[in-house]
Amino acid sequence: RASSQRAEEVIRRYMEVVPGVPDEDCIICMDQLSNPSGYETQPPATAGEGGQGILPDAVGKFVKCGHTLHMLCMLAMYNNGTKDGSLQCPSCKTIYGEKTGTQPKGKMEIYSIPQALPGHPDCGAIQIIYSILPGIQGPEHPNPGQPFTCRGFPRFCFLPDSDKGRKVLELLKVAWMRRLIFTVGTSSTTGEPDTVVWNGIHHKTEMMSNLSGHGFPDPNYLDNVLSELASQGVTEDCLKA
Ligand code: NAD
Ligand code: ZN
Ligand code: ZN
Repeated sequence: RASSQRAEEVIRRYMEVVPGVPDEDCIICMDQLSNPSGYETQPPATAGEGGQGILPDAVGKFVKCGHTLHMLCMLAMYNNGTKDGSLQCPSCKTIYGEKTGTQPKGKMEIYSIPQALPGHPDCGAIQIIYSILPGIQGPEHPNPGQPFTCRGFPRFCFLPDSDKGRKVLELLKVAWMRRLIFTVGTSSTTGEPDTVVWNGIHHKTEMMSNLSGHGFPDPNYLDNVLSELASQGVTEDCLKA
């Protein structure tokens, strides 16, 4: 009961009930918003505790981006995810709250290297070393209780030691704390399941060449990784707090 009540609170924090139902479809269930959500109000709904339960015909609007969908559909999507108190609008991907991931425990180390990277002749480099050891998958992983492997660790990554490179580094530290850099899944390179893989925030693992496509030079790299970080909710605003 407590957890389903918490889930409802998250939905209500970032969505408000719209009184007039727009003539649109729900992006989650694809049915018209004027029809009720196909998802049932959870059995331990809070209805008995002051009528708080979300009803199948409730249509909600996200407070910032304004997209509308069935509140129960959004609740079902939340309950299918990591349930970390954050929501992501399925239409425009705006993140509400602090999105966290499923990266296993590990270590992020940072060193400075007095050597210029191709394409960044005027500064040295930053080296990041990620270390993760094999372990047992938690409830947030694809196969809880089963082992996971770690291939190619420690992984060595590089950034130019410029103003923009250092900003990316600070945001990568935030992403690491929020468990967003790696996840447990199937490697698209090797096809191996139940292994630690990159999670959509690209890193440069090749320092002095670009044979793999994951090296230097790459004039768009810093901008690309900034937008990948932003799509996980990690922006410069996170550094001000
Ligand atoms: P993956 O194959 O599931 O791919 C996920 C993402 O990582 C994709 O966006 C892909 O473009 C990117 N990616 C793939 N290879 C990369 C590389 N070498 N460097 C940086 N990004 C890369 O992800 P994965 O299974 O985590 O990594 C792919 C392979 O790269 C694995 O076989 C891993 O062992 C190997 N790797 C080795 C080292 C090392 O230092 N030995 C470092 C990084 C990756
Ligand atoms: Zn719906
Ligand atoms: Zn939206």
